[in-house]
Amino acid sequence: MPDSELPTFRYFRDPVAAGAFAPGDVVCQCCERSRGWIYQGSFYSEEEIDDLCPWCIADGSAAARFDGEFTADIGWDLPRWDVPHDVIDVIAHRTPGFPTWQDRRWWTHCDDGAEFVGMAGTDEMIALGDDAIEQVRTTAEVPVDQWAELLPILRADGDASVAVFRCLHCGAYGGYLDLS
Ligand SMILES: [Zn+2]
Ligand SMILES: [Zn+2]
Repeated sequence: MPDSELPTFRYFRDPVAAGAFAPGDVVCQCCERSRGWIYQGSFYSEEEIDDLCPWCIADGSAAARFDGEFTADIGWDLPRWDVPHDVIDVIAHRTPGFPTWQDRRWWTHCDDGAEFVGMAGTDEMIALGDDAIEQVRTTAEVPVDQWAELLPILRADGDASVAVFRCLHCGAYGGYLDLS
């Protein structure tokens, strides 16, 4: 049994639904405890670390202890990361990564990191509505004709999906196309 409620993350809506955390009787390499949940995503560090618990991600202890980051392309110096450094710090060091084929970027809007909603396929995109679909298409920089071909064949866990984000301030959607 999980020993306590999972931590929540400002920039990651539902890590269990997204597959970032899975139940399991595994000892965390950071706190050296088995707490019922284990992280399934990537961790970029010198030393190869496979097993981390959600709590050691949330409090920053895993990133600090192993000098690692949960999102590879955090772009400390990139113009698109035109957000305060403490935001980047939270996303890099205290937020689980999400599964993608290509480089993982964190969408930003209104001078803040956006909330990762999940990987979306056709059904998930349609459920967001037309306005959101168009916002995602625009931020993903996919031409209209290409988008018309892609939208019907997207699958949340397939070779073509969209990483969907939502701005925590104005509610705008954004995202990146992810192709294997
Ligand atoms: Zn731990
Ligand atoms: Zn916004």
